[in-house]
Amino acid sequence: MSQTRILVTGGAGFIGSHYVRTLLGPLGPDDVSVTVLDAFTYAANPASLDEVRDSPRFRLVVGDICDPEVVGPLMAEHDEVVHFAAESHVDRSLSSSAEFVRTNVMGTQVLLDAALHHGISTFVHVSTDEVYGSVPTGSSTEEESVDPNSPYAASKAASDLLALVYHRSHDLDVRVTRCSNNYGHHQFPEKIVPLFVTRLLQGRKVPLYGDGMNVRDWLHIDDHIRGIELVRTRGRAGEIYNIGGGTELNNRELTDRLLQACGATWDQVEYVEDRKGHDRRYSVDWHKAHTELGYKPQKDFAEGLAETVAWYRDHREWWDRADGTPDAAAGAPAC
Ligand code: NAD
Repeated sequence: MSQTRILVTGGAGFIGSHYVRTLLGPLGPDDVSVTVLDAFTYAANPASLDEVRDSPRFRLVVGDICDPEVVGPLMAEHDEVVHFAAESHVDRSLSSSAEFVRTNVMGTQVLLDAALHHGISTFVHVSTDEVYGSVPTGSSTEEESVDPNSPYAASKAASDLLALVYHRSHDLDVRVTRCSNNYGHHQFPEKIVPLFVTRLLQGRKVPLYGDGMNVRDWLHIDDHIRGIELVRTRGRAGEIYNIGGGTELNNRELTDRLLQACGATWDQVEYVEDRKGHDRRYSVDWHKAHTELGYKPQKDFAEGLAETVAWYRDHREWWDRADGTPDAAAGAPAC
């Protein structure tokens, strides 16, 4: 059987590794092989790929997406690209944005150039709802312009525009996905869900930004992966597809649920100074993915959160190595 050879960038991170485990798992398609290209920054965890390491359809390349010497030859051996690699944490981008511009913008440009040169048939560029900026009411459709409020979101918006232009200028089959906040297992404990869960499980305090009323839409990683696969296999070239989760919560509500799930109380919550430029609310309209591709989030939030907490409780060895990293002292919601 001929196989579609997929190059997955950032495949050792939270969402990328779940994509790879899903594709090469028992329910995944049997006509794909996967190469992960990952630089193994602080956000990657080699253990996230343990499940697939022995698969004959899996290969791992440790390398930087910004390096054309690495990317070019690899691209020549593949049919499609699913691009997850990024610097992904807003707070880090507020402390220093250089690495965000380098990886998210320049790295994407290196990949797009190589994809064009080597005749890649489909390039899925994974992006975020944060590019739309804050929406007080309603939901952002794909037609809306980008209006980012953090260096992270600006670097993602720049990479989205670049990717779309490779379709317009060069007719490269690029498809952009913009999802809301993902939650689930294997997420580095700096973003709000794994940060709070790992701290609460240790009996420690958790930091809540500002008045805690910032709103996010929560998307389980299983639903996100399903959405990405629909876009890869059925989407159209040059199109943007929003992928929403369907559970909108402010951070106080989310914290309340996390406290309950971890058997903790509000005594363990400390209000801290708000994040600079903190977007009040994100919300994406995912009708286009629904009507064109049949996308619909399926995971019940309460069930997904309970499973996530149970996973962190049972996999202490996975997150022990990451715990206490650049103290997420300020904690932090969002991607
Ligand atoms: P992550 O931080 O967990 O993983 C990023 C991965 O990229 C890591 O494995 C890291 O080692 C790798 N990487 C970073 N720089 C690299 C480079 N120069 N070369 C090669 N690899 C490099 O991120 P994630 O949460 O899995 O996010 C994946 C993608 O999804 C990102 O593009 C992010 O912007 C987007 N996204 C994430 C969320 C979310 O809720 N986590 C929401 C919307 C969009």
